[in-house]
Amino acid sequence: MSKFKKETESKNKCVELVGSEDHTHDFTVDEIQRIRANLLTWYDKNCRKLPWRELASQPDLNRRAYAVWVSEVMLQQTQVATVKEYYIRWMEKWPTVEHLSRASLEEVNEMWSGLGYYSRAKRLHDGAKKVVEKMKGNIPSTASELLKELPGVGKYTAGAIASISFGECTGIVDGNVIRVLSRLCGIGAVSSSTQAERKFWELSHKLVPQDRPGEFNQALMEFGATLCTPQAPRCHVCPLQRDCSALKQVVKQDTPVSILHKEKGLTSSNGIKVDKHVDIEECILCLPSSLWKPSLGVCNYPQKPKRKQPKEETLAVVVIKHDMEVGSHFLLTQRPKTGLLAGLWDFPNVAVESNQSDAYMFTTLCNFLENNLGITLKQRTQKRIAEVFHKFSHVHHKYMVFSYEHPEIKHLLQTSQEKSKIRWITREDLDTAALSTAMRKVFTAFEMHNSGENEKQAKVDRKRKRPNSHDGRKQMVLDGFLKSKDQQK
Ligand SMILES: [Zn+2]
Repeated sequence: MSKFKKETESKNKCVELVGSEDHTHDFTVDEIQRIRANLLTWYDKNCRKLPWRELASQPDLNRRAYAVWVSEVMLQQTQVATVKEYYIRWMEKWPTVEHLSRASLEEVNEMWSGLGYYSRAKRLHDGAKKVVEKMKGNIPSTASELLKELPGVGKYTAGAIASISFGECTGIVDGNVIRVLSRLCGIGAVSSSTQAERKFWELSHKLVPQDRPGEFNQALMEFGATLCTPQAPRCHVCPLQRDCSALKQVVKQDTPVSILHKEKGLTSSNGIKVDKHVDIEECILCLPSSLWKPSLGVCNYPQKPKRKQPKEETLAVVVIKHDMEVGSHFLLTQRPKTGLLAGLWDFPNVAVESNQSDAYMFTTLCNFLENNLGITLKQRTQKRIAEVFHKFSHVHHKYMVFSYEHPEIKHLLQTSQEKSKIRWITREDLDTAALSTAMRKVFTAFEMHNSGENEKQAKVDRKRKRPNSHDGRKQMVLDGFLKSKDQQK
């Protein structure tokens, strides 16, 4: 009997440490009570005032759910500070799910323009239509139904809507929650692994209290976002210090348990010779000893998955301009209804090899315009005016930017009526059009190049009088600008 018992125990208690408590990657009943109370007290004092929090407390549950749904989708890949403004405008335009269901995808994309990851907007819009057409306008009220019925709503978003707007007692796991839980319970397995993920969900369901599930979930995320942060957690003022496994490791051992657990006779960094006999199997949730970096302290948790190298793609893009008395017009084409940036508007562009010459790239562009959009450019040689970089999550784009002054808008306007995928747009309308951030960068480069050209001309004029001016300076300024824009993402 003892052997069986020992084996089952060792699965949960991964290590017994000299002078340390049992380490189980779990909470005791006492810990759960304490964490709930401490976290909610902290939240009541410290929660940020955010527009969706106000809307999430209105009496109409369906409106509440819609308000939370929109905010959660916007927040999926974008920071709070950016989302605020978009959220307020969105809710003014479409205050209920019925309003949103009546909007066109074009309007939705325009409103979303600049937020990135446009498929989120499309799925939100699809979801609203489904709720109105198939569910009489009633948003499902449980996490499992939300997950099943609404496009783009994953486990996390479903849990957030159900707990915050309908008070369902269900846990949630997002990046912030993963960080907090991995530190509290010393979970050093790669956070995206099946075992770790299962454990995080199990723990979050355990922690969430019956009486205030929505607020508790928000508290957990808020705590991760503002106090238990990725790089600089403020452990000295943390309300959960007492129950934090990562902090205990740092304070007591300066070494993770698994090091002591796996290697006999190891001397830990505080100089204590560890000579414990190890006969329990390796724990899959512990941090592997080779990965522990003393300088990181509690930030050894969580262990993030290694990123895949993103693909690199080069595209030739042309800003085609036509000057009229009423102002300049620019040619845009619409992207396909599926795939990256679906349905958004672009300056005409086409994939090229990065090592091709300007002449070759521009010819490729001309052929593309002719074959796909029925537009013929008479002058088929142009010099590249700028290079623009933009990072998407899984692919990096390098745009080789060309510009072209088109003399005959008449012909082109006729063409555009035939092909709905083309549209001429004024400079003013460009600011509000459903253009991706990458295309806005392209246009900024185009405008900077033009102002640079004007300045250059002025310089040439001045140079005749003053021989010592620097010609290359403007270009350096432009390069610097584009680089720093790119690094901001
Ligand atoms: Zn372990």
